[in-house]
Amino acid sequence: MDVEERSAVVVGAGIGGLAAALALRRAGWTVVVHERSPGREKTGAALTLWPNAVRALHALGLADGLRARASALDGSGVRRPDGRWLSRTSGEQVIARHGLPQVAIVRADLIDLLASALPSGCVRWGAAVTDVDPGGPDRRAGVRCGDRLAEADLVVAADGVHSRVRRTLWPDHPPAERRGYVAWRALVHASTGPASETWGRGERFGIVPVGENLVYVYATANTAALEPSVDELRSRFGNWHAPIPALLDAITPGDLMRHDIMALHPPLRRLFHGRVTLLGDAAHAMEPNLGQGAGLAVEDAVVLAYAVTGASSVAAGLAAYDRARAVRVARLARQSRLLGRLTQSPSAAVTTLRDATTRLIPDRFALRGFDAAAGWHPPVPVLQEPR
Ligand SMILES: Cc1cc2nc3c(=O)[nH]c(=O)nc-3n(C[C@H](O)[C@H](O)[C@H](O)COP(=O)(O)OP(=O)(O)OC[C@H]3O[C@@H](n4cnc5c(N)ncnc54)[C@H](O)[C@@H]3O)c2cc1C
Repeated sequence: MDVEERSAVVVGAGIGGLAAALALRRAGWTVVVHERSPGREKTGAALTLWPNAVRALHALGLADGLRARASALDGSGVRRPDGRWLSRTSGEQVIARHGLPQVAIVRADLIDLLASALPSGCVRWGAAVTDVDPGGPDRRAGVRCGDRLAEADLVVAADGVHSRVRRTLWPDHPPAERRGYVAWRALVHASTGPASETWGRGERFGIVPVGENLVYVYATANTAALEPSVDELRSRFGNWHAPIPALLDAITPGDLMRHDIMALHPPLRRLFHGRVTLLGDAAHAMEPNLGQGAGLAVEDAVVLAYAVTGASSVAAGLAAYDRARAVRVARLARQSRLLGRLTQSPSAAVTTLRDATTRLIPDRFALRGFDAAAGWHPPVPVLQEPR
């Protein structure tokens, strides 16, 4: 594509938007990000990133920064509320299968890693996009922020699960739906053993060490979002296996977050409209059961930059992006939804069968269930500006 035709506006400075801005800049584009919040997101507890997400961050040139801020998990597994392990995988097994570890990172640290790789002034904070024009083959696209119009060859809408851009340009697509359960999340100062997720009846509790003396805890239950309360967590999980009660005691109440789990369903048939494309949760918000949403947003960014830079036109590049992403993200959204049904089931019969089946699967086969997600490779190991 002609170098003069390489300007992009990104809507949203979450993980997806920042990754898109960085990927496009590395591929030689001029980029401006419009973010409605006045500054960087500082909440969100932590995330786990599978090897596919780690590879995508490496493709953005962030391998060293990621190594410095993230912790490799030395193992993970599924437990019952009495503490018995149903399945376990070691960190070595993940590396042997995928060549890279699964890592945990404080969400604000990942945001910081991405944002600090962008030049100052690239993100316009406090700039809420209120309207979008998809442009056309011979006309640039544009976004409106109040009475200001910003035009570009490409608009990347990374404005999250409730994407205004998606609602404007895909008005017939159903909005993201509540999935009937909530998630609580917090970071606590404590140390713990390997990562685990404990499955009860319609309830789960996750423990993820994030470096020394920091643990990411999360929990889910089939209820609607109210004010976050540690007492509610104690009443649900206080008699589950150690160290759950002690971790609950270590939560600072003001740090506890609680959200309704939302997902976009059915998946979008096409991820672009004119010169505007969707990316990250705006394109494929899914239940968090595979721990893949943020990783897929970074993958989207790498593939998008590669596709639009190598193509003869923005339209051809967006069609290539769509071909590379739509099937993959729809498939993982479907898997995550199925896993949600199984793990949030309140039925005693279903949970007994689920636990028995999980215990029977040899640990080395359990890891294979993540191959489709974790086995992804970027189109190039590291994005470089074309000569
Ligand atoms: C409980 C839970 C646990 C999770 N755990 C994991 C995990 O372990 N691993 C993982 O990979 N993923 C995980 N995810 C998923 C992950 O958090 C999301 O997929 C990811 O954050 C999506 O990033 P995004 O940039 O697409 O969207 P967002 O993070 O929602 O960012 C969208 C941005 O757009 C901005 N914005 C919105 N509207 C406008 C507008 N009109 N104008 C300008 N700016 C706008 C918002 O302010 C925001 O900054 C989890 C999700 C949940 C809910």
